[in-house]
Amino acid sequence: MMQQSIYETEFAARPRYTTLADSYTCDVAIVGGGLTGISAALTLAEAGFSVAVLEAGPIGTGGSGRNGGHVCQGWSSDFIKIQKQLAPADADIAWDAGMGAVDLVTERVRKYDIDCDLTFGYLHAALHKRHMDELDEMQSEWEARGYQHFSRLDGKTALDDHIGSNAYVGALHDTGCGHMQPLKYLHGLAAAATRAGAQIFEDSPVQAIDRTGTGQGLKQLKIAGGRAVNARIIMLCGNAYLADVGLPQMTRRLAEVVSSVLATKPLSENMVRQILPTGAAVADCNTALNYYRIDARRRMIFGGRSSYSKLNFRNITPDLRRRMTNVFPILQDAGIEQVWSGKIGITMNRIPHFGRTDDDIYFVQGFSGHGVALTGQAGRMLAEAVIGDATQFDVMSSLTHRIFPGGPLRTPALALGMAWFKMRDRLRL
Ligand SMILES: Cc1cc2nc3c(=O)[nH]c(=O)nc-3n(C[C@H](O)[C@H](O)[C@H](O)COP(=O)(O)OP(=O)(O)OC[C@H]3O[C@@H](n4cnc5c(N)ncnc54)[C@H](O)[C@@H]3O)c2cc1C
Repeated sequence: MMQQSIYETEFAARPRYTTLADSYTCDVAIVGGGLTGISAALTLAEAGFSVAVLEAGPIGTGGSGRNGGHVCQGWSSDFIKIQKQLAPADADIAWDAGMGAVDLVTERVRKYDIDCDLTFGYLHAALHKRHMDELDEMQSEWEARGYQHFSRLDGKTALDDHIGSNAYVGALHDTGCGHMQPLKYLHGLAAAATRAGAQIFEDSPVQAIDRTGTGQGLKQLKIAGGRAVNARIIMLCGNAYLADVGLPQMTRRLAEVVSSVLATKPLSENMVRQILPTGAAVADCNTALNYYRIDARRRMIFGGRSSYSKLNFRNITPDLRRRMTNVFPILQDAGIEQVWSGKIGITMNRIPHFGRTDDDIYFVQGFSGHGVALTGQAGRMLAEAVIGDATQFDVMSSLTHRIFPGGPLRTPALALGMAWFKMRDRLRL
């Protein structure tokens, strides 16, 4: 399950950060060198805080270095689920925070001159009429709040300019979303954070948190070999990879899903013109969705096949190839360059779970497969709460998250639930 992603392979010469040598003391210690942790570190360091990021492997080991590269706008759930828990003024704050995610990516790519192939253009694709109705609802909801990037593509003729496939009945074209090489983006942020004074330690897995620590108001993150980081404030940004270090209130509200991605060998320009002429990334509306895009080297990066059970995780490559050729039969002979998988953290309502303990441990988790842009925003929100503006953080952390039923058995229960949703998609109910 931990095969290298194509991003790691093609960016083999990426910088490495030192491992923690002995002990280190700072204002804020962050567990997890993914997009959330590095974003928080960048914001904190720029505000003058001393900050250390502790990453178990190389940065980007988790979802941030092995995702589909889709840069998606807004929160990971339908906004209505967020809105109905909040007073109107707070709902506006939550909306703006979600909608700021892609702007933050664009702003940081420009500000730090990050070379990560950021490209705009997105298709939310409908496989049948029920999906198109859902997309119509989304368009009305978002436009009522001022989003102006959609155009509706109804029927095959309207789709033809954007996608060469008979799989869809329509789509929403979205110029506010796009795609990028996520590991290069992460390294761009990490370099900026380091320049601002943040310390990033790789190969430094945190094994335990001692909340009483040194007894001087400092908590301690313990790393193998007697090494430790002491800090007043801790941020847990390990998401689906956090495992034993997570607080009970976090682990009970997060479930793991595995998703896989296939990269073809580079396609000819002519082939790309036939399948995705405008270079838009695409996600369909199925529960077990397909998400794909053509990258800067003209490879098809095709993701899908989420496994909730961990038990049926076999035959990944033929399964992804079948999904891809169902959409684009023309790719049946395309060579495969690489296939990899990664863990996605999901919450029951698919809204990211933000929180803070009384003794200043901050956390966010559960981007529910929608974190490439949102994580940057979430990391910044955690950092801003520490710096002194908790407006967005307080609103998002006030949301209620239900506990997954089933305790240790929750994965089979989730698998059953998802099997039902997948069947519903197939039957077009
Ligand atoms: C296959 C796949 C495809 C996806 N595609 C998309 C997509 O196209 N678009 C989209 O928006 N989202 C996508 N996602 C989701 C997105 O990648 C995640 O939401 C996002 O990367 C989460 O970032 P993060 O920083 O919160 O966590 P992660 O990137 O998972 O980082 C957590 C880090 O914490 C480290 N860590 C954990 N515990 C410890 C510890 N005890 N000590 C030290 N370090 C620790 C891990 O090693 C890891 O590097 C995808 C995810 C996967 C797996």
